[in-house]
Amino acid sequence: MTKKVILVWFRNDLRIHDNEILHEAVQKGDIIIPVYFFDPRYFKPNDIGFQNTGILRTLFLIDAVTQFKSTLQKIGADLLVFHDKPEDIIDTLCAKYEVTEVYHHREVAQRETDISEKVEETLWKQKINLKHFIGHTLYHKEDLPIPIRDVPNSFAAFKKKVEKESFVRPVLPPVTQITTHPHLESTHIPTLEELGFSPEAIASVGDLNELPKGGEDQALETIERTLSADYNEIDDYSLVSPYIAIGTVSPAFYFHKIKEHYRPSNKKKYDRLLMRLLWRDYFRFMLKKHPNIFFKPGVSTEDGLTTSAAEIEQCIAEERHPSVIGEFLGELQTTGNLPYEHREILAAYMLQEWKVNHLAGASFFEEHLLDYAPATTYGYWLHFAGYGTSPKDNLKVSWEELLKKNYQTKKMVNS
Ligand SMILES: Cc1cc2nc3c(=O)[nH]c(=O)nc-3n(C[C@H](O)[C@H](O)[C@H](O)COP(=O)(O)OP(=O)(O)OC[C@H]3O[C@@H](n4cnc5c(N)ncnc54)[C@H](O)[C@@H]3O)c2cc1C
Repeated sequence: MTKKVILVWFRNDLRIHDNEILHEAVQKGDIIIPVYFFDPRYFKPNDIGFQNTGILRTLFLIDAVTQFKSTLQKIGADLLVFHDKPEDIIDTLCAKYEVTEVYHHREVAQRETDISEKVEETLWKQKINLKHFIGHTLYHKEDLPIPIRDVPNSFAAFKKKVEKESFVRPVLPPVTQITTHPHLESTHIPTLEELGFSPEAIASVGDLNELPKGGEDQALETIERTLSADYNEIDDYSLVSPYIAIGTVSPAFYFHKIKEHYRPSNKKKYDRLLMRLLWRDYFRFMLKKHPNIFFKPGVSTEDGLTTSAAEIEQCIAEERHPSVIGEFLGELQTTGNLPYEHREILAAYMLQEWKVNHLAGASFFEEHLLDYAPATTYGYWLHFAGYGTSPKDNLKVSWEELLKKNYQTKKMVNS
């Protein structure tokens, strides 16, 4: 009898726990070939002129892939890592390892779905099926009480409906043993230089030990630490989002952990966390319901006219902005992170004062954010520009008002 050989194509799901594609592959396959691609399309500038993936997120990703490879080695397998477009080499891999099926998690933004389609076409020529799994959201699409086309555009209505009429699936256990091909080739994880970063860019990163580490162990440790009763360091700021974005932890795992730690004393804070996880789902479901809606140019004639990276960089370099904006820009560029309220103020400032086009602004965030997720970043920018899918949640106030409301040290407002 021929063996069932499943190639598992990992993308934003670099974990062994609660990972349906890996779980099912191990259940159904005789031999598993785990593969990850550093796709060159993600490591070059986009049309606006920003890098698709900035250096900090690249380091975070390299870290996550390194740890994932080592975890897979400990449980009997390995991770084949390539610096290539998946559609260019997946057929060769399939032929070499006699693959019978390929598994992957379906993405939702157009660039990602276009890549899946290309892979699917390539595989189809070899009569190999690409099996799509839906596993990136907290509420599984199949468990929604309504079809995607009927998901309410209003965030409040969406929240009410899913919380009342759906449920979050239990977490799948970690995979503990994988059988792979006895002669897997050896591959290496590309360096920053190989991914195209210049020596100057690499030298500018500073102390690598200060940067968050990207692996699954750190993701689980961050969740335990920030949900523990004595964590009060920064109220409301857990830094879990970068791990969720690259999938070293699943939203469902985080959800169930929050529920486990739920107490009357922290109810308000944890309800807020759960609501935020729902915003993440909301944006992904909206992108599914209205394909590409967050990425369309020219949503209005009033759209900002500052449309290129060069123009935005010039605004930054001129330093005519208040010092608090400089502080947020610096934090974003040097740490890859900003609390929600500060992202909101910065985006509002860029839209209102620099007249930044929302796609250019989102693309600036895309380069720098550690937790970059296409639906969330572009979805928020569209709402801040006034044309979001949930009109009630469009930004209606000035950046100064946001600053007064949400920035604790208000002394900087007038600087
Ligand atoms: C302009 C703009 C762009 C943003 N881009 C992103 C992005 O690309 N990726 C991203 O994960 N978040 C994005 N956010 C949402 C939010 O700012 C971050 O998720 C949050 O700051 C992460 O903080 P944390 O790690 O402490 O997550 P926690 O507070 O621990 O939240 C848990 C998870 O919920 C999700 N989440 C949290 N807050 C929000 C929110 N307000 N909206 C949607 N999801 C949320 C994140 O996935 C996060 O991991 C953006 C917000 C704005 C205003």
